[in-house]
Amino acid sequence: MRKFSAEDIANLNKDTRLSVAGRHPEEAFGFVNPPVYHGSTILFPTIQDLACRTNRYGYGRRGSPTTTALQEAVCAMEGGEAVVLCPSGLSAVSTALLSCLKAGDHLLMTDAAYDPIRTFCNNVLTRYGVEVTYYDPVVGADIASLFRPNTRAVFTEAPSSLTFEVQDIPAIAEAAHERDIIVLMDNTWATPLYFPAHAHGVDLTISSATKYLCGHSDVLFGTVSANARCRSALLRTHGDLGMCVAPDDAYLLLRGIRTLGVRLDAHQRSALEIAQWLETRPEVSRVLYPALESHPGHALWKRDFNGATGLFSIVLKPVPQKAVAAFLDNLSLFGLGYSWGGYESLALPFDAAQFRSATAWTPEGPTIRLHIGLEDVQDLKADLEQGLERLNAAARE
Ligand SMILES: *Cc1c(COP(=O)(O)O)cnc(C)c1O
Repeated sequence: MRKFSAEDIANLNKDTRLSVAGRHPEEAFGFVNPPVYHGSTILFPTIQDLACRTNRYGYGRRGSPTTTALQEAVCAMEGGEAVVLCPSGLSAVSTALLSCLKAGDHLLMTDAAYDPIRTFCNNVLTRYGVEVTYYDPVVGADIASLFRPNTRAVFTEAPSSLTFEVQDIPAIAEAAHERDIIVLMDNTWATPLYFPAHAHGVDLTISSATKYLCGHSDVLFGTVSANARCRSALLRTHGDLGMCVAPDDAYLLLRGIRTLGVRLDAHQRSALEIAQWLETRPEVSRVLYPALESHPGHALWKRDFNGATGLFSIVLKPVPQKAVAAFLDNLSLFGLGYSWGGYESLALPFDAAQFRSATAWTPEGPTIRLHIGLEDVQDLKADLEQGLERLNAAARE
């Protein structure tokens, strides 16, 4: 394998980039993967070296060859100027927000944001003097009507991960940049492979790497990528907050990223098949998946995204709660649980109304989020079909 520079890697096709970035066998006795460095203290040969910081690494919290390899791989995917690593997706969001806000600033936050992000804004940012306004996720270029003289940042997520509104990120970014406002995005659903956020105008893009980047439901992790404008503030804030990650988790995340392309293709194929099939089922009122032509955000998704991943929601026709329980409690392949993006399928009933303040969420029936994993798609369909039969039987009782 030859040595690739960062410029070489930027010019590679995306799947090749996923394979090559962050690999330095010449520095690791030829081993394909980087070693896992555990360490706090890093030794310097002399006091002169200590004073001049001649080592590439100075202290474990600030990084190691393992975390550098991961940063290189994420940076190659994101196409930004710098990447920082955080111990969870939520801490990546809080780090990104803290890097661009100060007391007296105003933040516009999508009303469909992941609920713990709202809690961070309401409990922490407001305590430090940041004003937060929630806005309708499908506002588009009208975001400009919400700008105040002190608006400093707009936080977006597309699609939202329970209710799947697709935001017009390029329009929001254009409006924001006219006023020098920073655009942040939670890009966990699409990942940089299916939505190149920086190329669409996002200044700070965040992934809960716990989901698809890791892909195996065994690591909590977050990444933030910054463009040139936000790079130095992000690096400084990340360091000031003492954010750092465990070496084994960094290693596992890097391993997950190597297969992200093929995994997402498989999630997409099965999710589309199941979503299309669910649309035909009499128990289902709507399927909220942007890749379906029936989805209100389909045209935007088609314009801006390179693909759709394995997470979507369904709105059932009205049935009693016991029928929903009969459906979900006895699924054999779909597990009931939070999170998503692993190889396994999941189901989650939810009530998004409780997490909203600027918009209403009034579905016509019970709502369920599904994560379509890498199992055989016919097996998954059969599991859901049996569940829907149980739902019907319980509804008739
Ligand atoms: C899970 C999730 C997060 C938070 O990630 P953690 O790693 O669980 O902290 C943020 N945003 C979205 C959209 C998520 O699904």
